[in-house]
Amino acid sequence: MNIAVIGTGYVGLVTGTCLAEVGNNVICVDIDEAKVAQMKNGKVPIFEPNLEELFLKNIKANRLHFTTHLKTALDKSQIIFLALPTPQDEDGSADLKYVESVAHELGDLITDYKIIINKSTVPVGTSEIVKNIIKRKTSVAFDVISNPEFLREGFAVQDFMTPERIIIGTKSKKAIDILNKLYSPFITLKRPVIVMDEKSAELTKYAANTFLATKITFMNEVANLCEIIGANVDDVRKGIGSDSRIGNKFLFPGIGFGGSCFPKDVNALVHSSDTAGYNFQILKSVLNVNQSQKKSLIPKFKKYFNNHISSKKVGIWGLAFKPNTDDIREAPAIDVINELLLEGIEITAYDPEAMPNMKRIYGDKITFCNNAYDVLKDVDCLLINTEWREFYSPDFDKMKKLMKQPVIFDGRNIFDMEVMKINGFHYESVGRKIVT
Ligand code: NAD
Repeated sequence: MNIAVIGTGYVGLVTGTCLAEVGNNVICVDIDEAKVAQMKNGKVPIFEPNLEELFLKNIKANRLHFTTHLKTALDKSQIIFLALPTPQDEDGSADLKYVESVAHELGDLITDYKIIINKSTVPVGTSEIVKNIIKRKTSVAFDVISNPEFLREGFAVQDFMTPERIIIGTKSKKAIDILNKLYSPFITLKRPVIVMDEKSAELTKYAANTFLATKITFMNEVANLCEIIGANVDDVRKGIGSDSRIGNKFLFPGIGFGGSCFPKDVNALVHSSDTAGYNFQILKSVLNVNQSQKKSLIPKFKKYFNNHISSKKVGIWGLAFKPNTDDIREAPAIDVINELLLEGIEITAYDPEAMPNMKRIYGDKITFCNNAYDVLKDVDCLLINTEWREFYSPDFDKMKKLMKQPVIFDGRNIFDMEVMKINGFHYESVGRKIVT
């Protein structure tokens, strides 16, 4: 099949590459000229495990192309994916300006039947909006389908190749047949296509993301309570996770969720619910709790140093909002760093992938280090924001020799408490007793 993917970010580039990998001809379109030039030169503009290999393979096989010219892509393709940003607007709603502007262009440019498949996360009713914009501009036949994407950054290729389900929101029989054929390489009995109307498909994506954000937040509140009453959240987690009605995933407490999706999607559903006249109370609480959870290491750090913190030097491990990505959008590390900088604290930091993105925000306000140990030279304490695998088994003796004091505030519970005790650290984590 001949496919155009408009928008080559995490979703678009992975979609385009994976669809090329199963034999389709894919042309990816982006307005970012530098990005397109980079991709034409065989450079992947984002970090995503296994993406580069497939990307290069399919460019070589002549199945994956890049352009800034929308018309060229449309003329060659019947299937058009929209993988455009839907960032949070000032009022919390999803900003549809990118999706709407491309809809206008499609209305001007299409000359034969197209299936327009929206992969962006968009509020209920957006398929209808896109349809109406295009309809006002052309008499050419087309279908607009809602096909929300569930891939996770850090596992994007794997998730696209083996999705747990594919949601298709449309009433068009023709579109369903074409999409079933398009997705057949990815579908098995255990990985079904679920067809529904457009509105239900659009809401399914928000319901999924906000449910997960709620589950994380619930567990963070359980952890906060554990700290006060002296219980151990690890045990509570195992205890409840063994109940199949609850399940053991998304129960790990920490310093809150971030990223390009959960925060904006919770805000967007709150906003569209308010607009529809429904007060989605649980999600409003999720937003409030998460905001304070992101900064929850700071009071622990201040208390340990009896509020004498301005002359302290702090090391930070982890800047990305989660491991295996370079994405720092809404990362808790940003809240932590901002709080520390307000206090005039000197910061050294390391992240395996996210430092170039962080440098764009902080420049030389932070010292970015080449590795995790360089961060520790003469620091009064270490703060851990992201659970990168390379942080799990460090050389504790080497750490202690480098640090001014062996003090760790761990926002992701990556260390065993007994191990920290044996190694002589003062160690504070989330929902567990203080080791000292
Ligand atoms: P992104 O910001 O990484 O990429 C979007 C791309 O679209 C950018 O490269 C941008 O230059 C391009 N673009 C903007 N306007 C354009 C235009 N007019 N023509 C062509 N290209 C244009 O975004 P993303 O993370 O890939 O997310 C895209 C959508 O998918 C969002 O709605 C998001 O909520 C949703 N989503 C994201 C994820 C994720 O993990 N990132 C997962 C599921 C769903």
